Amino acid sequence: MVGQTISHYRVTEKIGAGGMGVVYKAEDTRLGREVALKFLPEESARDKSALERFLREARAASALNHPNICTIHDIGEHEGRPYIVMEYLKGRTLKHHIGGRALPADSLLELGAQVADALDAAHTEGITHRDIKPSNLFVTERGHAKILDFGLAKLTQREESASEIANAATISDANLTAAGATVGTVAYMSPEQARGDVVDHRTDIFSLGTVLYEMATGRQAFSGKSTAMIFDSILNRQPTPPVRVNPELPDEVARVIHRCLEKDRDLRYQSAADLRSELKLLRRDTTSDRSVAASRADIPATPTPPSVTATTTSATQSGSDTQIALGLLQRHKLAMGLTLLAVAAVVIGGLWMTGSFSSPVLSEADELLLTDFVNTTGDPVFDGTLKTALAVKLEESPYINVFPEQRVQETLKLMERPPETRITQAVGREICQRLNVKA
Ligand code: ATP
Ligand code: MG
Repeated sequence: MVGQTISHYRVTEKIGAGGMGVVYKAEDTRLGREVALKFLPEESARDKSALERFLREARAASALNHPNICTIHDIGEHEGRPYIVMEYLKGRTLKHHIGGRALPADSLLELGAQVADALDAAHTEGITHRDIKPSNLFVTERGHAKILDFGLAKLTQREESASEIANAATISDANLTAAGATVGTVAYMSPEQARGDVVDHRTDIFSLGTVLYEMATGRQAFSGKSTAMIFDSILNRQPTPPVRVNPELPDEVARVIHRCLEKDRDLRYQSAADLRSELKLLRRDTTSDRSVAASRADIPATPTPPSVTATTTSATQSGSDTQIALGLLQRHKLAMGLTLLAVAAVVIGGLWMTGSFSSPVLSEADELLLTDFVNTTGDPVFDGTLKTALAVKLEESPYINVFPEQRVQETLKLMERPPETRITQAVGREICQRLNVKA
């Protein structure tokens, strides 16, 4: 396929393949833009009514025109294989983005609210996705969520019930494989979908709940060695409380996830709009908690003067002196927090202004090497700590990979430099040269 021109789309590379066909990157030669072409499996073309349904849904989904739904530009057929032309997204799927690790709560809330907003738009138009799962959600380089594969779900699932899949698994080896292949998908199904009942938009709310659970914990809400075991979990069991897997998860977020995962759909959020409001409210509260904490700090933006630190560390501390010392320690932490925020803002702002965040930008493979700070505060508490703390803060971002300190040390050794060498910009560049990476 690569190198061929299909209609006015010149296929440039294969992006990937999934249960629903193969995805290619292509150039729209008329409009000169990048697009993604998804070819559906040949079998799907034979099922005329399923194909009709798919076309109907593709048309409806393309009319949605929502910033968090991958836009469908066109549909066509090539040598009997139907294909869809959609916007080409830069970034990675949520599945890859989670990568088995819990996401920070604010990232979960932001992405969750965006997906809920997109679902609300679709549901309002009478469209249910039916296959919300991490591999059908995309996180763009700019951190926006996009729902993929609207309309495809109906084509694949054809209201498969648990018993149909279980029966298929007993027929032959080939079917066993086929049943195995659906394991990934069934883990995000709602109980009514698993039972083969007629579903409504609330199935998407359950599935989004399983996705939120995975963002919160890095683990699937419902898992098992076989399809039957997964169905059993979905229908009869409660997932491990997410707070037990991730103790840092705020209780309120766990409560929202729990409500999405109610087995009785009448007990879930009744609309994606309600869920979106909850997530946005929590998002606002987490953000304002932080700004309230910062405004309550009542401290100068510059670190505490060294003379005060000296007083508190004197050997003749009374009880009240200890209290003052603790207070000052808190202040130190807050001052450090504020300084870090300011430094992070300057770093990110700098990258932005120098155009480093416009394409080709930081890719997943890029790393940020932090150089040493010059401590002009006169307070030794900021000596190495500021760099370490900034590295920790930056590592929390899902978009930034910090060059590990250990590799800096290993490279210094290779360069026959002492381990305490100051990592200035020049030394940073030398390290990159030594490792043969572009700085
Ligand atoms: P499933 O069939 O269960 O949906 P899947 O999502 O892994 O499985 P596909 O939907 O075929 O498989 O997608 C294959 C790959 O193509 C995925 O890695 C996805 O990231 C990528 N992809 C799909 N659509 C786009 C797009 N519009 N822009 C960029 N990459 C895309
Ligand atoms: Mg997909």
